[in-house]
Amino acid sequence: METPTAKINLYNLDFEALTELVQELDQPPYRARQIWDWLYKKFVHTFDEMTNLPAGLRKTLAEKATLTELQPRFIEKSQDGFTKKVLFSLQDGKLIETVLMRYDKRNTICVSSQAGCAMGCVFCATGQMGFQRHLTTGEIINQITYFAHELAKEDSRITNVVMMGMGEPLHNYDNTLAAVDRMIDETGINLGSRKITISTVGLVPAIRRYADEKRQTPLAVSLHAATDRERDALIPVNRRWPIKEIIAACRYYIDQTGRRLTFEWALIRGENDTVEQAEKLGEILQGMLCHVNLIPLNPTKGYGGRPSDPARVQAFIDTLREYGVSATVRVRRGIDIQAGCGQLRDRIVSND
Ligand code: SAH
Ligand code: SF4
Repeated sequence: METPTAKINLYNLDFEALTELVQELDQPPYRARQIWDWLYKKFVHTFDEMTNLPAGLRKTLAEKATLTELQPRFIEKSQDGFTKKVLFSLQDGKLIETVLMRYDKRNTICVSSQAGCAMGCVFCATGQMGFQRHLTTGEIINQITYFAHELAKEDSRITNVVMMGMGEPLHNYDNTLAAVDRMIDETGINLGSRKITISTVGLVPAIRRYADEKRQTPLAVSLHAATDRERDALIPVNRRWPIKEIIAACRYYIDQTGRRLTFEWALIRGENDTVEQAEKLGEILQGMLCHVNLIPLNPTKGYGGRPSDPARVQAFIDTLREYGVSATVRVRRGIDIQAGCGQLRDRIVSND
């Protein structure tokens, strides 16, 4: 799906389509490779920087094409300086968020796949705003190139990508996976496929499709509850694909790929952090090639739930261990800048 923009975003084109464009402009095919390098190795912001192209071609490209559809609208850094969040506006004015998290040896970027989200999870700021539209492949890639350009200035690079920003990546399957393919393309960004994690709320047919494609990019499934009663209340789409079907699809994924699966679990005080929920989860996951990522709930405007206290978190981990299920707590980065999905937009829009 294209955004209503008169110019072609070059990042929407794969190499074949770029070659066709170059031919339409009466240029020799090798120009496509030159442009590709500027796009995916140098991450330039302007056509003028493409110094090995003839001036005429640079001018034509600038008239017909664009190198980004994202305008940074608001930038916020965490107090420790390790997390940076950018709110971008798209050509049609929709807003999305991207976060860069710096660790010792890693630079992880958290990327959005949609403006808004149709899944309506009650605790999620993006879910609370509803669905606006899918992002194009170019709009997904532009989030990467924005930060890659910045990091390149300090001789650094993006090492990991998590598709955990706004939106449900598997609801926008084709554009998201085309963007992932672009990220791992060895002639371009060249990220290892294992460095890109796709997080899904549990869209069963899409998980099965992903498994059939035998992709090596790790998958994380946001479970958050071990009984349908509890999960229905948190994640409306659970009524369509209940836990049993999700787990069957997860087992299918593990069989097809041989890969360990991650389950995400945002711990909400008194809701899903009880020993009973941990026991039920242990029963479900026992013997499965998986790991549980526990995330303390990030409070959002539209939901009254609170994060669990540390004793509850530890009890939860201990209970899972009794079932042989490994679990760790993921420390949320950038809480002071609303780095949780959809939260910066929430604040900016309500201040407008
Ligand atoms: N739509 C996908 C990916 C984006 S959300 C998904 O749901 O998996 C990325 C992760 O953040 C998911 O595990 C999601 O459940 C979690 N999340 C969303 N809002 C949160 C909040 N307020 N506190 C903690 N985790 C949250
Ligand atoms: Fe969408 Fe994921 Fe938020 Fe649920 S948690 S509303 S699926 S972005």
